[in-house]
Amino acid sequence: MKRLIREIMFPARCVSCDKVLDYDRIHIGFCRKCHKKIRYACEPVCKKCGKVIDDFAKEYCLDCQKRTHNFVQSKGVYVYEGMIKQSMYRFKYSNRRCYRYTFSRDIIKVYGRWIKTLELDGIVPVPMYKKKQKVRGYNQAELIARQLSYDMGIPLYSDLVYRTRKTIPMKGLSDTERQKNLKNAFNFSKKALQLKRVLIIDDIYTTGSTLDSVAKVLHDAGVKEVYGLCMCVGKGYS
Ligand SMILES: [Zn+2]
Ligand SMILES: [Zn+2]
Repeated sequence: MKRLIREIMFPARCVSCDKVLDYDRIHIGFCRKCHKKIRYACEPVCKKCGKVIDDFAKEYCLDCQKRTHNFVQSKGVYVYEGMIKQSMYRFKYSNRRCYRYTFSRDIIKVYGRWIKTLELDGIVPVPMYKKKQKVRGYNQAELIARQLSYDMGIPLYSDLVYRTRKTIPMKGLSDTERQKNLKNAFNFSKKALQLKRVLIIDDIYTTGSTLDSVAKVLHDAGVKEVYGLCMCVGKGYS
């Protein structure tokens, strides 16, 4: 009965278009129409950062041809375009914490096998500045990381890395400005020599500067190999 009331009061909605879902779509998270439109970041993708590229013959995106990263490899699940942009916005700012179930399921669907082959020792979400998290009530990257940790049975380390100061939103910043904005913005709470391989979780991958900064701190903490996984990723060609 309680469940029925909850379903009437708060019906499950499509992660993409926000319309109420038919009962048989609840476990998928997307309505039929949106599910057809969602573009998963599948091959060909950049072997380094996971951005979609336009040619199977190429190994790296334009960006990764020019620069190195502090992580071994990163993957993205959805291409950051169309309706999924609003979906990420709602997940971040409109308390749609329930999206984590769909996101974790889709991570496993697209990259579950890859994650298993990594034999990870832990999952680390990109941290939010504590004061900011208090105001918002949650850290969206941590929600995904926590759910994925639960679904895949990999330990979560949500306090290992923390944000040392407030940073300005990255949207609209150039690559150099992003790097400057993140300089010394993260630190580790304790050494983590027992962790050989770790996966960082974030919501959107743009230039990789956030993953690079967190990966550097994890290396300083003693982690050997760092990988990344972001819910959304851009296109790596123009
Ligand atoms: Zn929909
Ligand atoms: Zn790349």
